[in-house]
Amino acid sequence: MTADSPAELGRRAQAMLDALAAISDEEGRITRLYLSPAHRRAADLVARWMREAGMAVSEDALGTVRGSTPPGAPGPSSNRRYLVGSHIDTVVDAGRYDGMLGVVAGILALQEIAARGIRLPFGVDVLAFGDEEGVRFPTTLASSSAVAGVFDTADLDGARDAAGVSLREALVAFGGDPDGVASAAYPRDEVLGYLEVHIEQGPVLEIEDRPLGVVTSIAGQSRFLVTVTGDAGHAGTVPMGHRRDALAAGAEMILAVEEIARAGREHQMVATVGRLSLEPGAVNVIPSRVSFTVDLRAATDPPRAAAEAAVRHRFRAIAEARSVAFLMDRYHDTPTTPCAGRIQDAFARAMGDLGLPARRLTSGAGHDGHAMHALCDIGMLFVRCRAGISHNPNEYADAGDMGLAVEALIRALTALADGEGEGST
Ligand SMILES: [Zn+2]
Repeated sequence: MTADSPAELGRRAQAMLDALAAISDEEGRITRLYLSPAHRRAADLVARWMREAGMAVSEDALGTVRGSTPPGAPGPSSNRRYLVGSHIDTVVDAGRYDGMLGVVAGILALQEIAARGIRLPFGVDVLAFGDEEGVRFPTTLASSSAVAGVFDTADLDGARDAAGVSLREALVAFGGDPDGVASAAYPRDEVLGYLEVHIEQGPVLEIEDRPLGVVTSIAGQSRFLVTVTGDAGHAGTVPMGHRRDALAAGAEMILAVEEIARAGREHQMVATVGRLSLEPGAVNVIPSRVSFTVDLRAATDPPRAAAEAAVRHRFRAIAEARSVAFLMDRYHDTPTTPCAGRIQDAFARAMGDLGLPARRLTSGAGHDGHAMHALCDIGMLFVRCRAGISHNPNEYADAGDMGLAVEALIRALTALADGEGEGST
């Protein structure tokens, strides 16, 4: 039966999300870590929904649930498919939308495409990944990396959870096949692209009163550890003009980081000092050593590199003026993952059909699309969430907005079919 309206699709999405939210490893809150008993039950429920929607269901070596729909019309790409998905693992004490919405939206969209008699010239697989949040194991995006063919098998025995259980052992307990990792990868020439619907996890769409946004890229990230070294001294005896106060210098540096990030607004630049420690840390001693982290992100790589250079330049000047020494160590660097123009345009066209101007924005948070980009073109559609809250039980997205997202996903797939020259209804 077709849904009459986005509102009905939204109600269906909400009911499915509520059912998933009831599956948890912890009483009274949503916690579903990768390969846990709750992940097992959630994967089984998702598989059941996929079967009910008419898909052929399988589960790969890393526990990703895969629901396959064959092409509805013959065409030049009839052996090929789009992948649509997101993740069903959560952080500890999570909300009910992050990840799950993308899986539910994919299932509902495929069900609706069949019910409306839309014949796509390509197949579509809906994927429910299990390791996006990276909470249980020190891995990131293990399940989508396996699908993309870039999973590092050293992690099978190398990655262990807090209880000492290896990823291999956890996979076996889950029913996965650690030795079948290679078979989880899609052949590159069969995949046309990866589409993901996700809550924004930020406040921009809500501030601008827009239900949906088209993602332009998943922001690259650089992380630094900065250490400033001065001189300890007696807080009562060393005159102000003779001090080498590491914390006062660090404070100036932190404000410089903020100023540089603010100046990069057009590149959606953000910078955060989230950790700070000082020595010796006594009320009557001038701080001799300060360490802090800097997390720097932007929509594209060149402005991020330029910001790093600007930060180093300012730090040098501050250190010189205050006669302190500093070290700035870049310990993590992920390049920007661009969203393909043609998939962005398909989402924008779908939104246009629904009377929504296509606001384009960068994703400051990481997603499975980052790993999937190793396999194929990616694109993401953001859904407005309340107050930008995520990774928290107060996470909330409106059912009406979610219904619009499902409708936009249906239309985006149809638009991509038109691009193949084979779309028909
Ligand atoms: Zn997520």
